[in-house]
Amino acid sequence: MAASFVSFFQKDKTFRARKKNFPEGTMRYDLHKRANASLHSGIDLKQVVRLPPEEDPNDWIAVHVVDFFNRINVIYGVVAEFCTENTCPTMSGGAKYEYHWCDGKTYRKPTKLPAPEYISLLMEWVETQINNEEVFPIKCGIPFPKNYMQTCRKMLTRLYRVFVHVYIHHFDKLVGIGAEPHVNTCYKHFYYFVTEFSLVDKKELEPLRQLTERICH
Ligand SMILES: [Zn+2]
Repeated sequence: MAASFVSFFQKDKTFRARKKNFPEGTMRYDLHKRANASLHSGIDLKQVVRLPPEEDPNDWIAVHVVDFFNRINVIYGVVAEFCTENTCPTMSGGAKYEYHWCDGKTYRKPTKLPAPEYISLLMEWVETQINNEEVFPIKCGIPFPKNYMQTCRKMLTRLYRVFVHVYIHHFDKLVGIGAEPHVNTCYKHFYYFVTEFSLVDKKELEPLRQLTERICH
């Protein structure tokens, strides 16, 4: 029998070390549990992404960013050994899309990098943002910075590119190990979430438009 969605994402094998979840007993932890509990059965993902009444959208978005980061970490971990400088010399999504890395520091200008290197920098960057209390306050009661939503948009936009690369270049591997249904569920959840709160530009979603039309009704 195939592993359930939840057990699939509890794998030890991740690309980067797993980001710790929210401390138990905190309000964020409860939100995270609630957001996850709804994923177990008979899921209407379009419904579960909606902001629960009386919740702060900033908190709701924070728990989702961390959960998506953790799941995408697992997803890329599954194909990472097949994604090399040789198989993927650029961070692409088919022939039409290519992403260049720019962090304003080491890479001051958008720079062409092999996909594994790009994704490694991307995941490291997201993790750094998540771990920075000034950017992404994890304890409740600490105010969210003014550019919080902007940072979340950037994190989710970058994370989406991992889906683009994995789906377009490593789809056969996902199918081969039986991960496709789990990845599809995660993708749908992500897609409904970012569209519900307008967190990723339409043009960024373009590379997977066909997939989206097929699986997100
Ligand atoms: Zn690759």
